Amino acid sequence: KWTGLNELREKFLEFFESKGCLRLPSFSLVPKDDNSLLLINSGMAPMKKYFTGEVTPPRKRVTTCQKCIRTPDIERVGITARHGTFFEMLGNFSFGDYFKHEATAWAWEFFTKVLEMPPEKLYVSIYEDDDEAFDIWTKEVGVDPSHMVRLGKEDNFWEHGSGPCGPCSEIYFDRGDEKGCGRPDCHVGCECDRFVEVWNLVFTQFESDGKGNYTPLEHPNIDTGMGLERLACVMQGVDNLFLVDTIQNIMKHISQITGVEYGKNEKSDVSLRVITDHIRSTTFMIGDGVLPSNEGKGYVLRRLLRRAARHGRLLGYNEPFLYKVCDTVIKENLTAYPELKEKQEFITKVIKVEEESFAKTIDQGFKMLNGIMDSEDVKVLSGEDAFKLNDTYGFPIDLTREILSEKGIKVDVERFRELMKEQKKRSRDARKNAGADAWISDTTDLSDVANTEFVGYTDLKSTSKVL
Ligand code: ATP
Ligand code: MG
Ligand code: MG
Ligand code: MG
Repeated sequence: KWTGLNELREKFLEFFESKGCLRLPSFSLVPKDDNSLLLINSGMAPMKKYFTGEVTPPRKRVTTCQKCIRTPDIERVGITARHGTFFEMLGNFSFGDYFKHEATAWAWEFFTKVLEMPPEKLYVSIYEDDDEAFDIWTKEVGVDPSHMVRLGKEDNFWEHGSGPCGPCSEIYFDRGDEKGCGRPDCHVGCECDRFVEVWNLVFTQFESDGKGNYTPLEHPNIDTGMGLERLACVMQGVDNLFLVDTIQNIMKHISQITGVEYGKNEKSDVSLRVITDHIRSTTFMIGDGVLPSNEGKGYVLRRLLRRAARHGRLLGYNEPFLYKVCDTVIKENLTAYPELKEKQEFITKVIKVEEESFAKTIDQGFKMLNGIMDSEDVKVLSGEDAFKLNDTYGFPIDLTREILSEKGIKVDVERFRELMKEQKKRSRDARKNAGADAWISDTTDLSDVANTEFVGYTDLKSTSKVL
């Protein structure tokens, strides 16, 4: 019925408005007043204070489409059909208002009535002890009990230390045998991509003391999350989320620049998907004010950009090009994020500068890495070499680790971290000696502000990054 990514987003938000939810725009990817999280990774994350009651929400029923970044998924990106480091999460929320009966019934109504998904393709998982959810799904909503699956705590209980928590219920879409691993015991929850988890409904009904005691909440909450790209993927019947309408256009632009066609070779397909994903996440991160650096969010951004640049090399393309592809990312996202247009020039520039600076050293870095990979007897890369790759050639430690792991070589990360610490200390001392601004705290990372050579140090050579 409606299958375009932009249409699906709108249908979802409209549907929940019709259920009395207030539509809020996506929050920034950068968390506000929340040090527990580097980047927003779910629809509920920027609304934590509404859930705890610390802040009163504008309405007890809310619906959003939230930009999300999940770097823990980075190694699955391009490999599985369903993971991106960037994605949009559709959600409907209840702050002490509607609960399990409504949340389940509305989810089913949206899927089977609005989108007309065939119920025989849908499976529902519940937390193993949640008999209430089982009864609601099968007796009230009308799900066939043979399509119900009980899963354990890791999958279907949402909990984060102490505080509000509760069981979840997920809706999976069966894409059919040919999309799965083919094992006879392939099931809902299998790592393969036959049954795709599309929607997760969290029933926040307990308060946990963190020691295994759960007290029922007087006003339970609802927090749901559905990946918009996954929804579009199953609605469009395409193989993976990079083939979804708007996202495919980004990948096509990459193919056009690099001259590498999609669907010809599995290895280059992985690279095309990875670049497509990373240029999406980095465009949005810079749009929300993140800049490349060696720490925190800036490091995440740098790592993604350099990882994408490496995949460009794997495709045999040696020039900076990501800064061109970001135009297509912006163009394809104007419907929902028109503000990207105003920032286009800035985003392009940030990516270009980062690409060009990595381009200067990437070949030498690869030379060093290839030498290591070609030698038979290196099983572990020394911390010193990892440091040199990072400091002189601009290879983020995670990129080095990933490249070497493809050849089964480990990295002495502990020693690497020691060396990084020592370098930081040296920079700090140097700053003190040089009488640098006193208001700059010791923890401020200045490594990217300037690359000026510090003359008082001889053992750091030209890479001494001191302001
Ligand atoms: P999976 O088990 O497939 O990794 P998840 O259980 O980690 O997914 P949730 O934390 O429940 O995902 O997030 C809610 C929804 O957000 C998921 O049901 C899915 O539709 C979507 N989602 C989660 N992670 C990603 C991702 N990396 N890329 C795209 N969509 C995602
Ligand atoms: Mg996951
Ligand atoms: Mg899951
Ligand atoms: Mg889930």
